[in-house]
Amino acid sequence: MKLDELQDLERRWAMPTYRRAPVEFVRGEGARLWDSEGSEYIDLLAGISVCSAGHCHPDVVAAVREQAGALMHVSNLYLTEGAVRLAERLCRSSLGGRAFLCNSGTEANECAIKLVRKHAHARGIAEPEVVVLHGAFHGRTMASLSATPGLSSNPSFAPYLPGFRAVPRDDPDALREAVGPATAAVLLEPIQGETGVNVIPDEVLVAARESCDAAGAVLAFDEIQTGMGRTGSLWAYEQSPVRPDLLTTAKALGGGLPVGACVASEELGDVLAPGDHGSTFAGGPLVATAALAAFEVIDRPELLRRVREVGASLRAGLERLARVEGTRGRGLMIGVALREGVDAASTARRLLDEGLVVNAPAEHTLRLLPPLVIEDAEVERALEIFGRVLD
Ligand code: PLP
Repeated sequence: MKLDELQDLERRWAMPTYRRAPVEFVRGEGARLWDSEGSEYIDLLAGISVCSAGHCHPDVVAAVREQAGALMHVSNLYLTEGAVRLAERLCRSSLGGRAFLCNSGTEANECAIKLVRKHAHARGIAEPEVVVLHGAFHGRTMASLSATPGLSSNPSFAPYLPGFRAVPRDDPDALREAVGPATAAVLLEPIQGETGVNVIPDEVLVAARESCDAAGAVLAFDEIQTGMGRTGSLWAYEQSPVRPDLLTTAKALGGGLPVGACVASEELGDVLAPGDHGSTFAGGPLVATAALAAFEVIDRPELLRRVREVGASLRAGLERLARVEGTRGRGLMIGVALREGVDAASTARRLLDEGLVVNAPAEHTLRLLPPLVIEDAEVERALEIFGRVLD
């Protein structure tokens, strides 16, 4: 089918919730994509940090193929080894307690919000509050949306859930002031991705940890975008001065398939009891197998070291370009601040025309989230294209 025919069909049949770029990708391998007309691209977005193990990593593909021929779904009424092994791997690699598997990032946060509310009620708090940061993005379902200050001001979807209080993302004192006897949790992304790759200062993280400890509240990190090696450690909190009590993850966890998880520390592992939460598809054999294979690819010290090195050289190359003001981020989660007057959306479009996939989360910011397996030659080629468009 031709691209314009596909666009016509989309306009007729799909709800117009996305402004899609005029390209149909049909194949991917590592950090490369090919469109329906045969053109090749270097992918510096990885499906918004989903394909961190690379497109169609052979180990992930082999594991999924084998599992698809054996068993795809039985429901959570029964045991399957993949789900239990995945929960074990998540907990052993992070907070040590227990995990709830789900299908997406927003669902992982829904689980976290329910868990901290139940935990707060058990502490005698009648109307628990979750403190969140301005600039956050926690998802599109109603509780996650209510926890996202930039979206929960949109009257179209009101009324939102009560019980969220937003503070500036760079003000430790404001955060300390907001946490009190009614606080169930502080929920934050250690690096805010959707609003332009904003690293939360260490002082704010320390303020969050200390005030949660003082109030008996839970510190929850949304590592849906920062997790699974994106920043050069398996979890971003490992490079921060604090350890959360609860962690949500998704995106790269499934190696390209939809998997999410809410992981709790030992103390919080049994807050949710039978019947409190659930999901039909969650942790099914196929996606659990894919996630375990993705862990094998990503959770290796050599790969994580390379993420830090490649991130540093990509940033150094970008910072030399005339129309780049500077870069932000950690590892291979990079925000590129463009100079005054350089529009990010049209720059991303020009880069796409030149064979480079990036996105524009803010007016003057490009976001790069390449597959973690990107090769040196691909980084060089990407910098050449950036040079043509931004120098
Ligand atoms: N939290 C963060 C930090 C995210 O970046 C996203 C998605 O971009 C979400 C939550 C929501 O994840 P999902 O789109 O899988 O529901």
